[in-house]
Amino acid sequence: MYGLLFSGVGVDPSLAIDTVFEADHHDPVVLGNIPFYSLCEHHLLPFFGLAHMAYIPNQKIAGISKLARALEVAARRPQVQERLTGQVAEAIFTALSPSGVAVELEAEHMCMSMRGVEKPGHRVVTTALRGRFENSDMDRGALLALLRRR
Ligand SMILES: [Zn+2]
Repeated sequence: MYGLLFSGVGVDPSLAIDTVFEADHHDPVVLGNIPFYSLCEHHLLPFFGLAHMAYIPNQKIAGISKLARALEVAARRPQVQERLTGQVAEAIFTALSPSGVAVELEAEHMCMSMRGVEKPGHRVVTTALRGRFENSDMDRGALLALLRRR
């Protein structure tokens, strides 16, 4: 079991994006509602929820399932949600050199639900932006709106 749950240790998530096509396409690609499971590195208890990703291609698009594969690699290791979000964004940015990437994760952390403050049903939301969204409030707002339209 731990072989599976820790199978992403030491693996570069960007290598999971191994199907890349040349394409003259510059409109956003959005992949939403991807379930994921990870383990918080402080308690080794699960945190899990949904991932939403978007990127603006720059001559390259990925086989769409490969984005979910990169998420799997980064999630299958002891993690904190903030770093996981950044690693997924970084993987897409490295593999595709897109104009911009946005990743948002929403998750419940069992270490906050079944112990500690004991608040099941909470939702932790983290966002990571790379490329042009990092510096433009307008681009960032438009992309996050797109990401959240579900
Ligand atoms: Zn924890």
